[in-house]
Amino acid sequence: MAIIGIDLGTTNSLATIYTEDGVKLIRNSMGKALTPSVVGVDDDGNVIVGDVAKERLISHPDMTAAEFKRTMGTDHEYSLGKKKYSSQQLSSIVLRKIVLDAKEFLGEEIDEVVISVPAYFNDKMRIATKQAAELAGIKCERLINEPSAAALAYLHEHEWKDGTYMVVDFGGGTLDVSIIDSFDSVMEIIAVAGNNQLGGKDFNEAIYRHFCEVNGLSDSDLTAEEKAIIYRMSETTKIALSTTPMAVMSVVLHDQKYSLALDNNELIRIAHEVFEKLYEPIKKALKDSRLRPQDLEAIVLVGGSCKMPTVVSYLEKVTGVKPCVDIDSDTAIGFGAGIYSGIKSKNQNLKEVVMTDICPFSLGTSTHDTKTDELIMSFIIERNSMLPCSNMKDYYALYENQTEVKFDIFQGESIIPENNIKLGSISIKCPPTKKHDFIASARLTYDINGILIVDITNADKETTTRTLLDNNVRLSEKEMELIKAKLDQLRFSEEKDEEQELLISRAERIIEESLSIQREILMVALRDFKVAMKYGNTVEKRKAKEEFSAFLDRNESD
Ligand code: ADP
Ligand code: MG
Repeated sequence: MAIIGIDLGTTNSLATIYTEDGVKLIRNSMGKALTPSVVGVDDDGNVIVGDVAKERLISHPDMTAAEFKRTMGTDHEYSLGKKKYSSQQLSSIVLRKIVLDAKEFLGEEIDEVVISVPAYFNDKMRIATKQAAELAGIKCERLINEPSAAALAYLHEHEWKDGTYMVVDFGGGTLDVSIIDSFDSVMEIIAVAGNNQLGGKDFNEAIYRHFCEVNGLSDSDLTAEEKAIIYRMSETTKIALSTTPMAVMSVVLHDQKYSLALDNNELIRIAHEVFEKLYEPIKKALKDSRLRPQDLEAIVLVGGSCKMPTVVSYLEKVTGVKPCVDIDSDTAIGFGAGIYSGIKSKNQNLKEVVMTDICPFSLGTSTHDTKTDELIMSFIIERNSMLPCSNMKDYYALYENQTEVKFDIFQGESIIPENNIKLGSISIKCPPTKKHDFIASARLTYDINGILIVDITNADKETTTRTLLDNNVRLSEKEMELIKAKLDQLRFSEEKDEEQELLISRAERIIEESLSIQREILMVALRDFKVAMKYGNTVEKRKAKEEFSAFLDRNESD
């Protein structure tokens, strides 16, 4: 029985475990550490997860879903063939696969997971994440904020130097900036800021737009598949620019070749908005914690987009501090989640670390301002309060003989309730109350996982408690059962040879991206490979895979 840590990323996910020898990466069924957070359905109706599904994003866009973490906790649905799935359900499929692979890798049952989530994740998103684990039949008691996990991994490597750190996590779809104080085994998040709609994806999009503009391609004339090919090449070009000063991007559409030469200066120019947005949360986090960059022990960079030299130098320019890039930005969060799972299972080798989180946004209710006759916010919990936290405010009757009162609960910083995010409402009955007399008190409690509990108490001392106000979010047991049954029905193609599937999907993708003659050659090679897979013996199959893989490598580097 083991407890593992999972970094459930927008782009990639990763699992780790804490053993007597320290924290270890868990490899998936393909022998890789990172499992792309991509889910698809294959031609036989089997569910596929990870690399194989990612390869099919271009060739089978209608049967594949990616980046669904961006809509966690919302009603947004993704179509996989005829069926529709929410982000939560797709995440549950990813979790199921990761746990299955971990069980195989470790040779033991997994009885619990610790999952990391962006610090900026709101209440709905956190609940949806925990329920995704539940839907996959996995126990998840504890969520850990991604930056806390990164800081934990950093401190674990750097002998726990006390001090204040900034963690900048710039991933595929989210940016999280956190200020963390570590003192005497207590890790305290003192401020967080972020943008859950900013990530590496935005650079890809900037390159995509620039490519189309330079080549006179109009977005509306492109098919979904063509767009996907250009998009994929945009990302490849961006990644190339992390190691080379200049990259040439070329795409073949209808046998015509379109290209673009790009260097990092040009990238900064076309993506200047992304850089500008990058600075905002950094400024906010420093302001909220009343710190200057030079007060920081280190700026720790994590997330795939921090591998971009333009990002590192931009951060150095705006803060005046050289960021630390010596921890692996791909695995830091996963490692932190693993270390935390070790702490949770009370591993002897790990010192007990107390982690305190904060509530990243203010929470309150709308109230009627009698003087201006407008609805305004009454904040009950202030942004950056330490978790768990609880606060109460009293409210008064608006009119004579009021017997009912409704509280709309909002999250956000605006004084105008409408501009904030409504989490839900709760109505209670109360004894007839005179105008301006006490009618009820509202207590908001944010628990250690950042889940909101609302208690409303009337003058008779009767309390109504809700874990979450929005009924759409917290699924009832019955609803959970129904969704679970639906997900349980899914057939996973584990019995299939995943390596073979990956090679076929990869070949199909390269075929779509290639020129006519190369395409013909690839098609012949793919057919031969399929024949070898169908009729070959074990040795022949292994040899065919090796050869076909090398063949694809050569074709892709052309
Ligand atoms: P998430 O936590 O959102 O899953 P990651 O931290 O794995 O995301 O980062 C994924 C993003 O990082 C993608 O947008 C990807 O293009 C980008 N990325 C990964 N490696 C590199 C690299 N070497 N250079 C530039 N960007 C990279
Ligand atoms: Mg991440």
